[in-house]
Amino acid sequence: MIASKKGEVSFSPEALKEKYRLEREKRLRADGNAQYRDFSGVYADFDKDPYVEPGFTRPALTEKLDVLIVGGGFGGMLAAVRLRQAGVDSFRIVEKAGDFGGTWYWNRYPGAACDVESYIYLPLLEETGYIPTEKYAKAPEIFAHCQRIGRHFDLYKAALFQTQVELMEWDENTRRWNITTSRGDKLAARFVITAGGILHKAKLPGIPGIETFKGHSFHTTRWDYAYTGGGPTGGMDRLADKRVGIIGTGATSVQAIPHLGAAAKQLYVFQRTPSGVGVRDNQPTDPEWVKTLKPGWQQERILNFTALVSGKPQDVDMVRDGWTYIFQDAELRRAKTPEEAAELRQLTDFRKMEEIRARVDTIVKDPVTAEALKPYYNQMCKRPCFHDEYLDTFNRPNVQLVDTDGKGVERITPNGVVVNGKEYEVDCLIYASGFELSSEYTRRMGFDIRGRGGKSLSDSWAEGAATLHGMHSRGYPNLLMFSLTQSGWAINFVSILNEQSQHAAYIIARCLKQGIETIEPTEQAQQQWWDVILGNLMKAASFGGVECTPGYFNNEGARPPPSAMRNAPFAGGTIEFIDILRDWRKADELAGLELTRGGTSSNP
Ligand code: NDP
Repeated sequence: MIASKKGEVSFSPEALKEKYRLEREKRLRADGNAQYRDFSGVYADFDKDPYVEPGFTRPALTEKLDVLIVGGGFGGMLAAVRLRQAGVDSFRIVEKAGDFGGTWYWNRYPGAACDVESYIYLPLLEETGYIPTEKYAKAPEIFAHCQRIGRHFDLYKAALFQTQVELMEWDENTRRWNITTSRGDKLAARFVITAGGILHKAKLPGIPGIETFKGHSFHTTRWDYAYTGGGPTGGMDRLADKRVGIIGTGATSVQAIPHLGAAAKQLYVFQRTPSGVGVRDNQPTDPEWVKTLKPGWQQERILNFTALVSGKPQDVDMVRDGWTYIFQDAELRRAKTPEEAAELRQLTDFRKMEEIRARVDTIVKDPVTAEALKPYYNQMCKRPCFHDEYLDTFNRPNVQLVDTDGKGVERITPNGVVVNGKEYEVDCLIYASGFELSSEYTRRMGFDIRGRGGKSLSDSWAEGAATLHGMHSRGYPNLLMFSLTQSGWAINFVSILNEQSQHAAYIIARCLKQGIETIEPTEQAQQQWWDVILGNLMKAASFGGVECTPGYFNNEGARPPPSAMRNAPFAGGTIEFIDILRDWRKADELAGLELTRGGTSSNP
């Protein structure tokens, strides 16, 4: 129970706690994650790549490789770069898209930008000699940086674009992974790194009647500029005579809505849960600041940010933005017991969310709309958003917020969207309904992985994952996975990818140099890692978690089954996770991995 501290706070913590509980109850649904559907069947067209020329063909390849990397986003590119730096050049990168970039290849919706400072979010800035033009770079600049990394490290020659892995099977005789692709390639790789991204499989809301809609529709991750006109920085002139509806008000929508509001004849925003939207204050990069940067500056800045958002005080706050502000809670240091710390943490959260709600009142003129735009949950229950034009968009006469009071859209008809029995006719319906996070790993990867004895990873993990460091799994030799499952989590997720890629490259290079043919975690090492994962989950469960408003962060509010707990990320902190990997590498013993030697390394 949170004690209200009279005179110290201008709100009633008890009343807020009750309000949060009621808002959460409204949103809990029996169907949880099953409320969503994927792009199969009538939605198959939603998944088409709008950015490539149709008709691409190339001859199928048959190759032996040291390493196959699945995914050409930041994870896959970093893996390739670190392999090159470690002297491993025999690798291929298989990527579904037509270029590098991953999320920044696909997400070209208007207004897309990084929400973590670009100087710490964009990888390899010092290595490529690039400085982003703004504190929060926009999507085209980030995509161009991905291409820059590809050129700088000569990765294009290793890439197989517009290609999907269809099956991966371990061959006990050759001690290699045999991989077949959608282009008929047959690749035999000693090691495989799966870097398929964490939020790449888009989902649609399973709203009744969704397939009956006769107007134009698409998901934000495949923005249809042929229909809207304009581009990622706006100017969607073809919407000037269109009634547009957008379903969802998460981080994507917050960035896209100001542009839709400026372009559409009429915009309806269908909201189930409002996002918390803080100040952005984007700035062009100051050339004088750039002149002060010394070698090693990027890593130093990344570590400073990571420490601050992990609640570890630093002498300076280099980034000084909405993120570091959220995690500033000096009062916490006064706590003498864990209970006192939890109470103070909750009070600080209430206070900061009160500021977010007060911001809505200062910007949105209509009081009913303003009230509906206020989030009532703890700050980290959903991805916090930062934007300086989003709330103001609701002051436009052509923009209407259609709040569903937590229930979601009732129905979709051939002509539009029904909420509270009222039909809103639209010409175009945009789904800003997000991505799968807690579905099966292989479902999100899009192919099955068959390890020793042909056993599929989906079967092995039916009761939840078993790994060492979230990267290796027994029965799947020489497979190195980059994912959230039993692995690190960070607000600046690229910092985890950076660490995973160095870790994987160290292991692979060492094996190749020393003639180690296979590596595989022992049962005991997996058990020990699970003990670490579970211990930290128990500690973390005391705040936020299950009490949060439903969303993809918390399995839509459903108490996770034991299997989902086994699939959870490491909850002991970003810095702690990074330290565990670094200490493991420093010991240089490949601890917890069973090794087999023999033969020499491949030389394709
Ligand atoms: P989200 O999952 O955050 O949002 C989906 C939205 O759809 C929610 O508002 C959800 O409501 C709503 N919704 C789902 N079903 C219905 C329904 N039946 N009726 C009405 N509304 C519905 O997806 P986003 O694409 O916005 O963001 C996903 C993640 O991608 C972010 O959290 C972030 O990590 C990342 N991202 C990062 C950005 C960056 O700047 N780096 C920018 C954009 C995204 P409810 O909340 O009630 O479930």
